[in-house]
Amino acid sequence: MSAYVDQVYREKGGVRWLLTDEERKHIVELLDTNESTVSHLKGTNMTIARMTCVKCGKRSGLDDLVHNAVEGGIHNKEFMVDVLVNGPKGASPLHHLDCSRCSERFKQMCTWHNDEDCGSWD
Ligand SMILES: [Zn+2]
Repeated sequence: MSAYVDQVYREKGGVRWLLTDEERKHIVELLDTNESTVSHLKGTNMTIARMTCVKCGKRSGLDDLVHNAVEGGIHNKEFMVDVLVNGPKGASPLHHLDCSRCSERFKQMCTWHNDEDCGSWD
């Protein structure tokens, strides 16, 4: 069985979702940007472990957050690129998260894990 790891439980709390190549490619597409813009991204510190979509099996990821923000009209692409380059803009409330592949809503709400590392992408 594959031991592929896509997240790490942090000692300080929260769970680090390690960015996969697939997510990175998807984010580049979603934001009409290029790989170099997001090449520094290694993962995201979140409040909960990754979820698995009950409908299509996709793992929740940063690409879903980006997809929801842009497709939902919450933030424009320029804002999201800025967030990805410069870090999240402070604390954020819990969000519902919809699967970017099939639109099914993930069961739990989540957000960035707010601690001293919030805003750090590496
Ligand atoms: Zn899905």
